[in-house]
Amino acid sequence: MDELPRCRRATWDDIDRWAETLAERIRAADRVPDTIVGLTRGGWVPSRLLSDRLGVRRIVSLRAQHWGVTATPTGAAQVTEGLSGPVAGQRVLIVDDITDTGESLRLAVEHVTDGGAARITTATLLHIAHSKFVPDFFAEEIPRDAWVWVVFPWNYWEDLRALAEKAAGDSPDPEAARRKLRERCGLDVPRADLERVLGSRPLG
Ligand code: AMP
Repeated sequence: MDELPRCRRATWDDIDRWAETLAERIRAADRVPDTIVGLTRGGWVPSRLLSDRLGVRRIVSLRAQHWGVTATPTGAAQVTEGLSGPVAGQRVLIVDDITDTGESLRLAVEHVTDGGAARITTATLLHIAHSKFVPDFFAEEIPRDAWVWVVFPWNYWEDLRALAEKAAGDSPDPEAARRKLRERCGLDVPRADLERVLGSRPLG
């Protein structure tokens, strides 16, 4: 993360609404799977929510890594941990939180195809319009000129720590970091949260 990115904090209510929208669309299109493949780590919570809503009891995990710390892509996407269970002959739904470059999902489809799935459907909560890979289903699209780093509730502390360290630089003043996060990232966070992630640093 060279610059502090524009951010949007997603709430649990957003997640619930997006999961509901996705489930409705998947059901309406008659694409309810036998198995959900949840990409780690962003796809795990959405996978579990879809499993509940679609009545799909089997979730298999796949780890595709692409982005390093918050908003910093680390180069080519790679499958770093294969499928945690077999998918041969299964109708599979691959789930992630967001498609940005689309590389993780593209790679996951390749991997699940190699695993012998009978049918593959893809779904994400959010889709950024510039992504090279367009999921079959997504709940909301982010226009290509409105790119943001989405701070999902399951990634809040990890994202906040990375952003806060960047915003704080060498300054001991958490208020200055807080202001920077608000102005540059559009993130309004409680001072106590900043103190927690900046931890042992000397605070003003
Ligand atoms: P990608 O392969 O670029 O489509 O994205 C891979 C993963 O990185 C996603 O599943 C997210 O967990 C994370 N990610 C990428 N872009 C964003 C973003 N703009 N906001 C939040 N998380 C992101």
